[in-house]
Amino acid sequence: MKILVVGGVGYIGSHMLKRFKETNYEIEILDNLSSGQKENAQNYKLYVCDLLDKQTVYKILSEQNYDLVMHFAASINVEESYKNPKKYQQNNVINTINLLECMKDLKINKFIFSSSAAVYGEPEHIPVTELHPFNPVNPYGDTKAEVENALKSYEESCDLKYMSLRYFNACGAHLDGSIGEMHKPETHLIPLVLQVASGRKKHIEIFGDDYPTQDGTCVRDYVHVMDIVEAHMLAMENLVNTNKSQVFNIGNSKGFSVKQIIQMTKEITKVDIPVKILARRKGDPAQLIADNKKITNILNWNPKYSDLETIVKTAWNWEKKLKIQ
Ligand code: UDP
Repeated sequence: MKILVVGGVGYIGSHMLKRFKETNYEIEILDNLSSGQKENAQNYKLYVCDLLDKQTVYKILSEQNYDLVMHFAASINVEESYKNPKKYQQNNVINTINLLECMKDLKINKFIFSSSAAVYGEPEHIPVTELHPFNPVNPYGDTKAEVENALKSYEESCDLKYMSLRYFNACGAHLDGSIGEMHKPETHLIPLVLQVASGRKKHIEIFGDDYPTQDGTCVRDYVHVMDIVEAHMLAMENLVNTNKSQVFNIGNSKGFSVKQIIQMTKEITKVDIPVKILARRKGDPAQLIADNKKITNILNWNPKYSDLETIVKTAWNWEKKLKIQ
């Protein structure tokens, strides 16, 4: 099977590529290098191209016989999505439609999409099942919901079969320490707390301690990137075997608050973490915790690295490496 990995040199894509090294799949990458690193291509064929350039995308897809496309490329910063909604519509929605149009014309009909728990917004119930209605509370979440809706239409119009994987909070780094999370600017909690531990940052800002949660700070479902990658492998195999479109939550079904993350980081790094309490960040739901029964039952997904200790330890190894670079 020949697979195109779009956004393959970013955080999750690069972990996926490493996992593909253990298989016989034929892999190629398409990435615009806007946030990922070229070195993450790991000797796979890399097309440097933006999905905006539909002509070039079409040409690449028409010259290669891909059986399936995995799509990781997206803009993911909620705050930025308020400031620059056009960028989010372009990168996340229109560019994905460009890709789907090329696939439609070339009759490539298998697609794995990186969706997000952001489609649920402020959940009506916890844990959140896949049947929870879409109610995104920020422009980033809107874009993921828009693509999920578009996927249904493409299934109708061209027999596209897809897996939509709704990530909760992706985190952690590869166990071998070679790759990890690196966003510019970094906005995610765990890498930022670790930057305080390593001395790259003076303090961590807590965005709100007046939420209706146990300690007043937001609760999230943190899921290790290597478990996310394994979910992709299982989803892909299931799609190929059943030819049936499905949607899955990828979460650990356990919630941790911002303060609990900071506490675990203190324990692992043995460094004090100064904090500043700030106002709530716009577009942040109080709690997001997955119900992961669907993926554990249907795909036999069994997260192995998503306990908080392994998450913070692997991310800490990676942060120490980043600091000396
Ligand atoms: N957060 C925080 N300080 C930071 C970064 C994040 O308090 O410097 C909080 C944020 O408000 C949210 C949680 O940590 O409640 C996780 O945020 P992150 O940006 O990592 O992921 P998100 O849940 O937005 O996808």
